[in-house]
Amino acid sequence: MAWAFAGASTIGGQYMIDAVRAQTEGRVDWVVSGNADHAAGYAGRYGIANWTTALEDALADDAVTSVYISSTNEKHFGQAMAAIAAGKHVLCEKPLAMTAEEASAMVVAARDRGVILAVNHHLRSAGSHRAIRALIASGRLGRILSLRVFHAVHLPEHLRGWRLDDASAGGGVIADLTVHNADTVRYLVGEDPVSVVAETASTGMGKGVEDSAMSVWTMPSGIMVFSHESFTHPHSASGIEVHGTEGSVIARGVMAQDPVGEIELVTSAGRETVPFDKSGLYEAVVRDFELAAATGAEPAASGADGLKSLQVAIAVREAARTDRRLAVTYGEVQ
Ligand code: NDP
Repeated sequence: MAWAFAGASTIGGQYMIDAVRAQTEGRVDWVVSGNADHAAGYAGRYGIANWTTALEDALADDAVTSVYISSTNEKHFGQAMAAIAAGKHVLCEKPLAMTAEEASAMVVAARDRGVILAVNHHLRSAGSHRAIRALIASGRLGRILSLRVFHAVHLPEHLRGWRLDDASAGGGVIADLTVHNADTVRYLVGEDPVSVVAETASTGMGKGVEDSAMSVWTMPSGIMVFSHESFTHPHSASGIEVHGTEGSVIARGVMAQDPVGEIELVTSAGRETVPFDKSGLYEAVVRDFELAAATGAEPAASGADGLKSLQVAIAVREAARTDRRLAVTYGEVQ
């Protein structure tokens, strides 16, 4: 499968080029960037044959079957719509778009054009989260009472650009991390949050955007969810806890890009370590995407999943801004 990369990004260079090349005959044929020097340098650094500042050039290449979009967030919508119109399958970074209306239009456009639209919610493809999901589904935790998601990190120096000071590019920790927490919770318990209360903070690292957020979500079954995201925590560890009437899962270090962390199951019988598959997360995302493109199967996280995680994140931001409990509105994709 031949790919064009829209966005000469860090995530592309760190993970996604390798993830594509790890597939059988997986190729990155194009990189597209708004800046010609950056595009040329990126293409040279990663051995990509073609670069351009015009997405249309890559879309006009009939060999290209799929487009991976990892530009800044405000570009996702336009690039995805152009790629879909050109009949390419699209793997888009999170958040899917800046607004639910845009994300919804992307889902509709892909469906109508008969192409796959997936979102890179990589945590669904982590062996750790798959193991936790299997434990929940097996009933070993009993009735689920609550989840707590710990996603307070220290944003690395090299990523302290638009995320921290450019709301128009989709900066802020909610667009960056709350969407991942929302997708992970939805994936683990198979329910969509119905309402949220939230607080955000901008403590100096974020300039004009929030750098920290805490929220509590109500789930249809009554499960309570606590979600914490931040860019400002130098010494904290990520994690997720799932508490049920018969057992608790305590997972540390698993809200991550690599197959790392530990999972412990605690029941009345004692504590046990839960083993999990340590395969690369992004390789699995691309593998599932390519399977979906070939067979019409669902990708690991679909465009509809990306729309829902965005809607939860938007509700969290609005609940904090208005100091109110907000219903999460999902609407219907027409
Ligand atoms: P970067 O800041 O590395 O890159 C974003 C864009 O900034 C690039 O596409 C490029 O614009 C521009 N840019 C970057 N460096 C330069 C440079 N030296 N000169 C000129 N332009 C430059 O973004 P990230 O990789 O951190 O994030 C990209 C997207 O991926 C975001 O949507 C983010 O939310 C998502 N992401 C997802 C992750 C996941 O695990 N699913 C993890 C990390 C990020 P242009 O488009 O013009 O090339």
